[in-house]
Amino acid sequence: RMLKRQIACRSDINRMNGAFLATFESLIPPEEERTKQKQLLALLDGIVSKEWPDARLYVYGSCANSFGFSKSDIDICLAIEDANIDKSEVLLKLADMLQSGNLQNVQALTRARVPIVKLMDPETGISCDICVNNVLAVVNTKLLRDYAQIDVRLRQLAFIVKHWAKSRGVNETYQGTLSSYAYVLMCIHFLQQRRPAILPCLQGMEATYSVTVGNIECAYFDKVEKLYGFGSHNGESLARLVWAFFSYWAYCHDYANDVISVRSGSTVSKRAKDWTRRIGNDRHLICIEDPFEVSHDLGRVVDKFSIRVLREEFERAAEIMQYDPNPCVKLFEPY
Ligand code: ATP
Ligand code: MG
Repeated sequence: RMLKRQIACRSDINRMNGAFLATFESLIPPEEERTKQKQLLALLDGIVSKEWPDARLYVYGSCANSFGFSKSDIDICLAIEDANIDKSEVLLKLADMLQSGNLQNVQALTRARVPIVKLMDPETGISCDICVNNVLAVVNTKLLRDYAQIDVRLRQLAFIVKHWAKSRGVNETYQGTLSSYAYVLMCIHFLQQRRPAILPCLQGMEATYSVTVGNIECAYFDKVEKLYGFGSHNGESLARLVWAFFSYWAYCHDYANDVISVRSGSTVSKRAKDWTRRIGNDRHLICIEDPFEVSHDLGRVVDKFSIRVLREEFERAAEIMQYDPNPCVKLFEPY
């Protein structure tokens, strides 16, 4: 495919802004959900501390990164200091205790890529997944949450993009499309690239937060309260950003050569990362560098079939944003 030149945005785009903002608002979880999550967390804390008094529970994923919709499942990480533990053993033991603690649908999935225990709390109706010592996920959750505090348009844009991806069936890693985590990184990268920039590159600034996870050093500027108003020189509306986001992924992104990189606030070349060939199942057809685990391509799940599905969906969305009289309805029509 040829890269098209950047096209001019329709002149009435800002008239759509109210509809996009209303959609965003409708997806925000109500405060009482937060209360229920805390209630469940306290219950789990009580159960866990009986067996592992020094362990801690951390919420990660959409319930903690500020990109969660109403009624999301909770992702929890059980952090145990002892390096000698066997994760499967811990999960099986935990599943036993949860079962006795009156939680429902308790299931230990010890063979999954990220081994977890699943459960449902009948009291609050919340489902959750608990993993063990997945510290990197807790740290990248904090990074996403910190970015979201700098400019509200990140949270707004990411909600619209996630809602679109879920409506169109392209938020399914097991079918070769992208995770919510990948979509949020695409939004952060995109806002770092606007001119004037709407988001800074926190990992390119003086580190005020630093943790080492295994052999990965995670360091960045996390005093985000100092960055409020960073994007105020850019007055682009949400609707305009949604238009530009899809236009970028439909017509402007160089799939053959570029890797998007939130870590560097820019794109890096596939060649520099040696992501030009297929190795094993990693095809690198759309490349999204993990901000900390930089050898990890979040697009690795995408195969030669699903890349077509994805790119056709980006093009469909871009065309709707450019031509449809009512893009905020059409964009989210089920596939
Ligand atoms: P949803 O609202 O769809 O549940 P989510 O924010 O919980 O979205 P997921 O993609 O389910 O997003 O991922 C949950 C968390 O797991 C992410 O916030 C991230 O911390 C971590 N994570 C997910 N996929 C990866 C990955 N491939 N590499 C590293 N961390 C990941
Ligand atoms: Mg989740």
